[in-house]
Amino acid sequence: MADDGLETYRAKRTAGSTPEPMASTARAGRGPRMFVVHQHDATRMHWDLRLEIDGVLCSWAVPKEPSMDPEDKRLALKSETPPLDYVHFEAVIPDGNYGAGPMIAWDRGLFRPLIDPAQGMLDGEIKFELYGYKLRGAFTLVHTGKGTRGRFSGRGSNDWLLIKKRDEPALEFLAGKQELSGASVLSGLTVDELDARAPRHQQVLRA
Ligand code: MN
Repeated sequence: MADDGLETYRAKRTAGSTPEPMASTARAGRGPRMFVVHQHDATRMHWDLRLEIDGVLCSWAVPKEPSMDPEDKRLALKSETPPLDYVHFEAVIPDGNYGAGPMIAWDRGLFRPLIDPAQGMLDGEIKFELYGYKLRGAFTLVHTGKGTRGRFSGRGSNDWLLIKKRDEPALEFLAGKQELSGASVLSGLTVDELDARAPRHQQVLRA
């Protein structure tokens, strides 16, 4: 297949064994950029923040739930880039596949970069706005260059920080004293509820 930036993603997966998309479908015209945050109960629970940049979804695995509170800086580990169609993905990745486990669309909406995001990836700082159901307003992703043991490990490090900017949506959130919902914005299901309905569990019914 042509070089489409998805080699690392595809190398970890077997088409036909997982319902995940293997390539981006062609898009007519240029729509607004999208983002999605998947809550993914794999080996460890994490939230995959995915931003539409250069025709793929640049992704970071966030070990703690993303926050609308500017005080909550979240570690965000750069991960492989899935195809654009992943913005619609919500399913249980079957056992035996990479990332096996339930994955819900925890949030989704429009992604508006405030700088050239491809350049920002290179420079290690991306300023952007999200227009989702849960995450709203301005955020910054900063490449810290710190290794997992806190030592400087240079350009090869995957460690970034996700920081909410103090703006109107942040102040509204803080004033409301509400927690962000754990339900999918597509199905209304939590990861546990999706997992309980997964096809792999139907093997029990067929037995
Ligand atoms: Mn994941």
